[in-house]
Amino acid sequence: MSGGTDRHEGLRARVEALLAGYDPRSTERPAFLRARFAAGLAWVHFPEGLGGLGLPASDQTYVDQLLATAGAPDNDPRRNGIGLGMAAPTLLAFGTEEQQRRFLEPLWTGEEVWCQLFSEPGAGSDLAALGTRAVRSGEDWVVNGQKVWTSSAHRARWAILVARTDPAVPKHAGLTYFVCDMSDPGVEVRPLRQMTGEAEFNEVFLTDVRIPDAQRVGAEGDGWRVATATLMSERVAIGGGAAPRESGMAGVVATTWREHPELRTPQLHARLVSLWVEAEVARLTGRRLQQKLAVGAPGPEGSAMKLSFARLAQQLSGLELELLGEDGLRYDDWTMVRPETVEFTGRGAGYRYLRAKGNSIEGGTSEILRNIVAERVLGLPPEPRVDKDIAWKDLPR
Ligand SMILES: Cc1cc2nc3c(=O)[nH]c(=O)nc-3n(C[C@H](O)[C@H](O)[C@H](O)COP(=O)(O)OP(=O)(O)OC[C@H]3O[C@@H](n4cnc5c(N)ncnc54)[C@H](O)[C@@H]3O)c2cc1C
Repeated sequence: MSGGTDRHEGLRARVEALLAGYDPRSTERPAFLRARFAAGLAWVHFPEGLGGLGLPASDQTYVDQLLATAGAPDNDPRRNGIGLGMAAPTLLAFGTEEQQRRFLEPLWTGEEVWCQLFSEPGAGSDLAALGTRAVRSGEDWVVNGQKVWTSSAHRARWAILVARTDPAVPKHAGLTYFVCDMSDPGVEVRPLRQMTGEAEFNEVFLTDVRIPDAQRVGAEGDGWRVATATLMSERVAIGGGAAPRESGMAGVVATTWREHPELRTPQLHARLVSLWVEAEVARLTGRRLQQKLAVGAPGPEGSAMKLSFARLAQQLSGLELELLGEDGLRYDDWTMVRPETVEFTGRGAGYRYLRAKGNSIEGGTSEILRNIVAERVLGLPPEPRVDKDIAWKDLPR
C-alpha cells in the first residue's frame, strides 16, 4: 500500500474481510474487537502484530468510518480513557516487546481497564516531588505509599505508576515507571466522593506491593521522561478530540437557547455567540492538532487545547445555569454512584456546572498548563527552580 488512495483501497478490503468473517449483528462485542485488533485495524499506526499496520495515524478515521457505517461495535474510548489515551502510547514508546504483547490487546478491546497512579497528597502539580517508594528486592520491587484522585481505580485491572527508587538524587532523577497489577495484595482502593455526588476517583494505598521488574517501563531512574510523555498524551486525550460541530457543552447551551426564546436578551445573545465562536475555534484547532499528531508526536500544543476546553466548559455550563434560572439549580441525582464515564450531555445543567469545575484541575491545572505554554511554546523564561540540584531526601516537606 503506497499512495493514499492505494492505502485506502487496501484498508477497505481489510475491513470488508473482517466484516465477512465477523458479522457485527451476530458477533459479541469482545470477539469482534479482538478480531479487529488481529486484523491490524485497531490503531492502524501501531506496528503489525500490535493492533496496527504501521500506516499513518490519519488513516484511522477512514477505518473508523467504514466500520461505524457497517454498524460494527466500537471500543468506546471513554470507558478506558487512561488505557487508550495514556498507557497505550507510553507502552508503545517505552515498553518492552513482551509488555506490548501482553497488555495492548485487552487494553484496546476494553477487557482490561487502566488507571493512573501518579498524583499524591503533596505531589500533584509538582508530580516530581512524589514520595511513594519502590525498593528493589530480588526480581521484584516492593512499593509503599499513597496515591490520590485515581480515576477508575475501582474498575481497573492495571495501573501506570510512578514511584521513587532513589531518594538521594534530585527529585526528577530518582523516579521509575511501572505497571502495577491492581488485583495484587497490598493495593487498597477507597472511594472519594466529589461535589457532584459521584465517586469517579479514589485514594489508593500501596502496602508492600510486589511488582516484578519485568513490569518496569523504561530504565530505572528514567521515570520522569516516561511520565512526561504520558502527560503530553493525557492533555491531548482530554483536549484534542475531533468532536462534531455543536457537540458537547456548546450544543447543550445552544439547544437551551433555542428552546427558551423568552429568556433572550442582547447581552446573553452576545455572550452565547462569543462562546459559540470560541468553541468552534477550539474544535477546529483540535482537528488541526490531530492532523499534526498524525505526522509526529504530541507536543506541548496539546496543553493549549486542554486549557481552552476547560475554560469553555466552565463558561458554557455557567451560562446554561443563568439561562435556566431556578430550574437549572434543581439537582438531578445525589446518589453516590461509581460511573464508568463522565456524561456531560446525559445529565442535568447543575451536574454539568459542578463537574466542569474539575476540568481545570484534572490532567494538570490551568495554571500549570499556562506555564507549559509560556515556557515551551512561547519560549518565555522558565520559573525559577531552586530544588533542581538538591537530593529529594533533603528537600523541605
Ligand atoms: C476529576 C479529576 C480526576 C483526576 N484523575 C487523576 C488520575 O486518574 N490519576 C492521577 O494521578 N491524578 C488525577 N487527578 C489529579 C490531578 O492531576 C491533580 O489534582 C492536579 O495535578 C493538581 O494537583 P493538586 O490537586 O495536588 O493541586 P496543587 O498542585 O496543590 O495545586 C494547588 C493550586 O496551586 C496552583 N499551582 C501549583 N503550582 C503552581 C505553579 N508552579 N505556578 C502556578 N500555580 C501553581 C495550582 O494550579 C492549583 O490551582 C485528577 C483530578 C481531578 C480533579
